[in-house]
Amino acid sequence: MRSRKRTRVSSRSGNVPANEFVTHSAEETIAKGREIASKLRPPVLVLLKGDLGSGKTTLTKGIISALGAAKEEDVTSPTFNLVHEFRIHNLADSARSPQPCKVYHVDLYRIESFHDLESLGLEDALSEKAIVIIEWPERFTFRTDWPTIEIRLDHAGGDSRRIAISNLIAQNELT
Ligand code: ADP
Ligand code: MG
Repeated sequence: MRSRKRTRVSSRSGNVPANEFVTHSAEETIAKGREIASKLRPPVLVLLKGDLGSGKTTLTKGIISALGAAKEEDVTSPTFNLVHEFRIHNLADSARSPQPCKVYHVDLYRIESFHDLESLGLEDALSEKAIVIIEWPERFTFRTDWPTIEIRLDHAGGDSRRIAISNLIAQNELT
């Protein structure tokens, strides 16, 4: 996490517009998460930005369940535990990751200090070939040389949510 910032991330994120979608129910957001999961190749960092209730955890249900790491209902907010760890049992395409792979679901909302952040053991997570999903990443500056995807969720009236994906690794893969 404290390694050199990946120059490719900053240079490619600058002027590429995010891919945007609007979902109209939690189920649609879960379905979008499933689509996103099918494009993920570990190691990858998925940053989920957006207000409380914007659907970050809901999107994560889709991602983690599609990876075969847990059932939708078992993917819950890590607001209190801060980090939930899952093991991927059945990656659809085993060629993607011949080694067993873990998924970490992190929520930094309640993190108050850098010391707290260090105690989470995220550095360990980022030293293995994992999929790391972070809610409230704006609470800290992440320095990593991992491919990174930033997803912003916004309330768009009622049950609608606008989901903007800035794919900092391969912009076209997530459309
Ligand atoms: P966050 O993790 O961003 O705080 P959650 O995913 O925990 O948000 O909560 C989103 C809430 O909004 C859930 O209760 C969900 O059922 C509801 N919801 C309604 N419409 C949508 C939608 N289109 N996408 C995601 N969640 C939605
Ligand atoms: Mg959440």
